[in-house]
Amino acid sequence: MSVYLNGTFMPLAEAKISVLDRGFVFGDGVYEMVPVYSRQPFRLDSHLHRLQNSLDGIRLANPHGLDAWRDRVVQLVARQDFADQSVYIQITRGTPGVEQPPRDQAFPAGVAPTVFMFAQPLVTASATQKKAGVCAITAVDNRWQRCNIKAISLLANILLRQQAADADCAETVMLRDGFLTEGSASNIFVVKNGVLLAPPPSNLMLTGVTYDLVLELAVAHGIPHEIRMISEAEVRNADELWMTSSSKEVMAIVKLDGGAVGVGVPGPLAQQMDALYQTFKHQVMRA
Ligand code: PLP
Repeated sequence: MSVYLNGTFMPLAEAKISVLDRGFVFGDGVYEMVPVYSRQPFRLDSHLHRLQNSLDGIRLANPHGLDAWRDRVVQLVARQDFADQSVYIQITRGTPGVEQPPRDQAFPAGVAPTVFMFAQPLVTASATQKKAGVCAITAVDNRWQRCNIKAISLLANILLRQQAADADCAETVMLRDGFLTEGSASNIFVVKNGVLLAPPPSNLMLTGVTYDLVLELAVAHGIPHEIRMISEAEVRNADELWMTSSSKEVMAIVKLDGGAVGVGVPGPLAQQMDALYQTFKHQVMRA
């Protein structure tokens, strides 16, 4: 597997960083995950735009311009021997110099960021999984107040996601102060009486590239929708509940905390949106 580290493509086994890298010591960095279909990155610019927002959020200068990023991603993709990929991009605040304190929380001066990219085979949900839907649990969203930054320090998300795994479920739907925020690694949509409800982007959630596309498709196809705060009661009484992300795409949640969501099978709007998403994806890939 060919990976990218600080300007060079190399075999994975040769990619080495210092144990003092601030990504390792502090989780001081940000990341992106870009889906690639048939060797074509999907919505790459949206991911690079969100990467810029995350870098701005942690006050780390972007080491590359848009064209340089595009070029690096395209080169990484070309070096893999599989066509559908998930490209991971990580930037950390780098490694303090020998003359600098090895572990000082304040930013080290004059240190180059560490840029790492690798690609793995993209695993999206199969038709059978989509037909069945998945189960989820709910939990209090106890993360920090800057969830719009795609930070590599994911401990809170990991602990929340493990609660779902312990319950043999796919996702943890998070509630903060009685309102829906998102999933531990996805955005969450609610359908009630034929209306698609989406929580408004804020510092309390990561606005997914998939979230944006779902809303674009809702607009383009005249699907009634509202972007507004969604209460816990609305989540619990939903006709349909979906999780969306670059790898899960649009996935129906059919069971929440052990009880059926709606009638307990993927609903008609989830199926329609998944079909629209797939059509859009294939159109873009052919373009
Ligand atoms: N929210 C969180 C916390 C995530 O980790 C992710 C994806 O990893 C998303 C939402 C969905 O983002 P996207 O649709 O861009 O994959």
